[in-house]
Amino acid sequence: MRDYYEVLGVERNAEPRAVKSAYRKLAQKYHPDRNPGDKKAEEKFKEAAEAYSVLGDAEKRARYDRFGHEGTSRGGFDPTIFADFSDILGDIFGFGGGGGRGGGRRASRGADLRYDLRLTFEEAAFGTETKLRLPRHEGCDECSGSGSDGGAAPVSCQTCGGRGQVRVQQGFFTMAQTCPHCRGEGSKISDPCRVCKGDGQVVRERELEVSIPAGVDRGSRLRLTGEGEHGRHGGPAGDLYVVLEVEDHSRLRREGAQVASDEDVSYAQAVLGSTIEVETLHGTERLEVPPGTQAGKLFRLRGKGIERLDRRGRGDHLVQIRLKVPKPRDLDSEQLDLLRQLAVLDGEEVREGGVLSKVKELITGG
Ligand SMILES: [Zn+2]
Ligand SMILES: [Zn+2]
Repeated sequence: MRDYYEVLGVERNAEPRAVKSAYRKLAQKYHPDRNPGDKKAEEKFKEAAEAYSVLGDAEKRARYDRFGHEGTSRGGFDPTIFADFSDILGDIFGFGGGGGRGGGRRASRGADLRYDLRLTFEEAAFGTETKLRLPRHEGCDECSGSGSDGGAAPVSCQTCGGRGQVRVQQGFFTMAQTCPHCRGEGSKISDPCRVCKGDGQVVRERELEVSIPAGVDRGSRLRLTGEGEHGRHGGPAGDLYVVLEVEDHSRLRREGAQVASDEDVSYAQAVLGSTIEVETLHGTERLEVPPGTQAGKLFRLRGKGIERLDRRGRGDHLVQIRLKVPKPRDLDSEQLDLLRQLAVLDGEEVREGGVLSKVKELITGG
């Protein structure tokens, strides 16, 4: 049996307010609604509730202080303590409690929205301005969001007494559930608005201009605060998340702010050295290929990549050298002859223009 003060994590001389606050935190953390199926959380929740049933009551607490666990009559655990603490649970879950809002309709935040946006490689690299068309729930103009046709105030829901929640006994626990009659609103409209059918909101499609910053990448998310669905009854609007998809480039690859491309050089260029032209995102660059450059060699064109999202300059453009090997049919006879001569000089054996042509000559000549 753990010490009740230890269970709540408070000092023995803690003020009643501190005890209540400690219990509230624990109850919030381990409430079965938040930890469905979690036996450990349920145990903790019960333990905290039991500790608070004693320490939250001045008389029981005094007895516990003097006599310990023996001082509290625990003839089995009393599940009704949960009902006794409904004011606390009400505070925790934002329903019920002191009736501070006078039974009116509760303000709630609008839902967040997600929009998947596809960009070209260049749009992601340089940023772009774009217009999104998207529907969202907005307050109904006809009834100013009240949902009521004549503007009559909604009447408190009879089923839940305006709380928006009903309590259901489930074995040990009293669970709070959304009131099925008023769907959690706590009130009902007697004369529903014709436009929104009493909902107070309508779906409206609108156009939104969005500025995409340079350097965004596949999977980047832009958050547009307050561009989600409108809140209800004065609640704040949700946010809009624009999730980006970026198309591949036919020639360029991308890794963060870095861009890479393959560039072909001929055997002669690789051996003797050359200057090649590389198409970067920022125009044509000339690249010195030194004599004896191997296939696969990497060169770096500094600052020719993509703008970093944190605006700390641009990434680089990496060039990977590829050796261009032509097909014999793409070469003329002079080029082929020179290649054969080169092979002879190198002491290499090469195929002589295809075996088939030789056989043909024999037949016609013979
Ligand atoms: Zn109700
Ligand atoms: Zn309306």
